[in-house]
Amino acid sequence: MSSSDLSLQHHWMPFTNNRDFKADPKMVYGAEGIWLTGADGRKILDGSSGLFTTPAGHGRKRIADAVHRQMIELDYISSFTRGHEPSFRLADRLAAMLPPGIDRIFFVNSGSESVDTAMKICLAYHAARGDGDRKMFVSRERAYHGMNFGGLSLAGMVRNRLGFGTGLPGIVHMRHTGLPEHRFVLGEPAQGAELADDLQRMVDTYGADSIAACVVEPIAGSTGVLVPPRGYLQRLRAICDRHGILLVFDEVICGFGRTGKAFGAQSFGVTPDIITMAKALTNGALPMGAVAVRQNIQDTIMAAAPENAIEFMHGYTASAHPAACAAALAALDIYEEENLFERAAQMSAYFLDTVAGLRDLPSVTDIRGYGMLAGIDLAAGTGPGAGGYMMQKRLFDAGLHVKITGDTIILAPPFTVNGGEIDQMRDILHDVLAAEQ
Ligand code: PLP
Repeated sequence: MSSSDLSLQHHWMPFTNNRDFKADPKMVYGAEGIWLTGADGRKILDGSSGLFTTPAGHGRKRIADAVHRQMIELDYISSFTRGHEPSFRLADRLAAMLPPGIDRIFFVNSGSESVDTAMKICLAYHAARGDGDRKMFVSRERAYHGMNFGGLSLAGMVRNRLGFGTGLPGIVHMRHTGLPEHRFVLGEPAQGAELADDLQRMVDTYGADSIAACVVEPIAGSTGVLVPPRGYLQRLRAICDRHGILLVFDEVICGFGRTGKAFGAQSFGVTPDIITMAKALTNGALPMGAVAVRQNIQDTIMAAAPENAIEFMHGYTASAHPAACAAALAALDIYEEENLFERAAQMSAYFLDTVAGLRDLPSVTDIRGYGMLAGIDLAAGTGPGAGGYMMQKRLFDAGLHVKITGDTIILAPPFTVNGGEIDQMRDILHDVLAAEQ
């Protein structure tokens, strides 16, 4: 396997140092289970499930077959005013997995679209109730909510925002929950629930009547795995309830078993009003996202619209694409039949303990984790993220693919991983990080 006949010049790669990639390409030619195939057939362990997308492992024939069948039967029909069975079937399946009451599903094509769609739903809901002055959103420092302008405006990861202006007006940020006391704490940290009172301070400052929603990731994932302090999400819920503010959980990473239950909402025992999801919805096989909404939010928006009008002026050409629905249905079958969320819950302790075994390496400054998700902070490199970027390349060359944000390694293996493979992952990390000293 070689790419010597490719120019590599014309594909402008996303979130990539394109010049460096072209000088030192890291190509992947195949994938099966938790293994990627690199140049010359080299095997590379997928330590981040693609990009948190592939909890059932790669190369699932059942998904490929379902997509193939669907493409032959009905390759495309717009979901604007026309229906096809797989989308309704998928919505029913998701409604049954979600916390009770959150059972109206709007399909989109990515996590970014799910966030921007959720924001529009919040605005439409308040407007439908005659409370249309509620236009502000409360987000959080270090948040990641995708790269469209709504999600980017919510974002608290500053480098993602630089160069793109100030974002939408009316978005304010609570403090993040990464406290120094949380260093090397696995699971929910005991301290920090009171950080949720930042939401109350926003209410006190701007007035509840101007705030549409509070949007948070249950575990802040892309920034480096900040697990919510015990009681923090409950406190956000209570403040939202007191002031008529919608609570949105962005579960694009947490959803589909990553926290040991179907959704983070269930793992942390807090039911929001809206849940966004994407990535693992199709086991990463095709692009798809969704927004799950409390029934009375949809009912309110419906009731406010004139009889012959479209109730919610929003949608995408590929919303509920038949092939994506087929992929998602097959992925949900696999998750259910192989009890993969339970497996994630069972493997979590071994995974987290094994990763925690790296704590004594001098370059490791912190390790956090929950479920099948862990973040390892490295001592800063020669520039923001420079150490992490070089580390990602070295790990890939040593046989481990991971997601890196700044100087944080993020691990999120497929739930099908076994103990021996977790050990292998730890050994590669150990050897490469130790060679850094
Ligand atoms: N929201 C969260 C919490 C995410 O982690 C991500 C991506 O990592 C997104 C939204 C954006 O998803 P996408 O890249 O599919 O647009």
